[in-house]
Amino acid sequence: MYNEKIDIKSLSKEEIEEELLLMGEPRFRGTQLFKWLSQGIRSFEQMTNLPKRLIQQLSEKFFIDSLTLDKKQVSKTDGTIKYLWKLKDGNAVETVLMRYKYGNTVCISSQVGCRQGCVFCASTIGGLIRNLSPAEMLNEVLYTELDSGYKISNIVLMGIGEPLDNFDNVIKFLSLVNDSDGMNIGMRHISLSTCGLAENVDKLAESNLQLTLSVSLHAPDNETRTKLMPVNRVCDIDSLLCSCEDYYKKTGRRISFEYAMIDKINDSDEQAKLLAKHASKIGAHINLIPLNYVKERDLKPSSSARIKRFYSILEENKANVTIRRRLGSDIDASCGQLRKKAAEGREL
Ligand code: SAH
Repeated sequence: MYNEKIDIKSLSKEEIEEELLLMGEPRFRGTQLFKWLSQGIRSFEQMTNLPKRLIQQLSEKFFIDSLTLDKKQVSKTDGTIKYLWKLKDGNAVETVLMRYKYGNTVCISSQVGCRQGCVFCASTIGGLIRNLSPAEMLNEVLYTELDSGYKISNIVLMGIGEPLDNFDNVIKFLSLVNDSDGMNIGMRHISLSTCGLAENVDKLAESNLQLTLSVSLHAPDNETRTKLMPVNRVCDIDSLLCSCEDYYKKTGRRISFEYAMIDKINDSDEQAKLLAKHASKIGAHINLIPLNYVKERDLKPSSSARIKRFYSILEENKANVTIRRRLGSDIDASCGQLRKKAAEGREL
């Protein structure tokens, strides 16, 4: 039965080697297999340098996870491509390919749905359905590269889901995508965004990976943050900042704060000053993002005049800040919007 077979694509090169040694095969076969898997093949029969007998044995014990293309939208203005991929169990996830000067960046989902309940976010509306496996996350990167024909050089874990709520699978995925016999994408080319699960920020610091950690702060005071992000009831701003500071000390990697500017909610002068104070305390960089309007929630983006004013207060207070350019706004490229539309059967 399919379910009883092992998901070979979620195994590391070393684990595949171990499995093959148990099957009486030499160690080098592990690397051979791992390389095939990282090229996106969909069946063992396609591994042309393996003996027939071994292909048969492998097919009995393992399955190769793959994704199928459900929907694809290409932005007319900036070349951003948004994919909706079908998973083996019929669920769907979104992946976005963005074409920057410094390289092609893929934004991947880490869960089907999300349970964090941030009020401005479309991904969380139907709750969490399940975690993605390491193979499924790898496949988002791999099949986006294969379908688009663009070599992927950067990954951001900023799609659907909370990556630190799927901690072990995300760490495993990072090691797979980083492997020099696999896609070989360097940790410094990977960013992970979290809503602020402080305990898992601590765990991530222990892993001492050289990735970039983004923290979705979105408000500098507990009252506002709790209204926007239920996670703040469990880990408030002080404990989150404390974990961020430790993270910076342990890894030497500066943290980025994500800050979606929401009209009359988090865009006051006082909030800008407090945000600057938090950021300078831990040397964080601030990314201001105009809120993407989500129809289900009555929250509007701040006006561009307000954003400029907020930005200049941050600068006056010596914060390191940029305003993020929006890519793919003509194709619903923000978090959860495409999957939601597809689930509602609306026109894409
Ligand atoms: N769960 C993770 C990663 C996924 S969301 C996290 O919370 O960081 C990626 C980013 O998009 C987060 O910073 C999230 O807060 C932000 N985001 C979600 N909905 C948004 C919207 N409507 N407008 C602007 N940013 C949004």
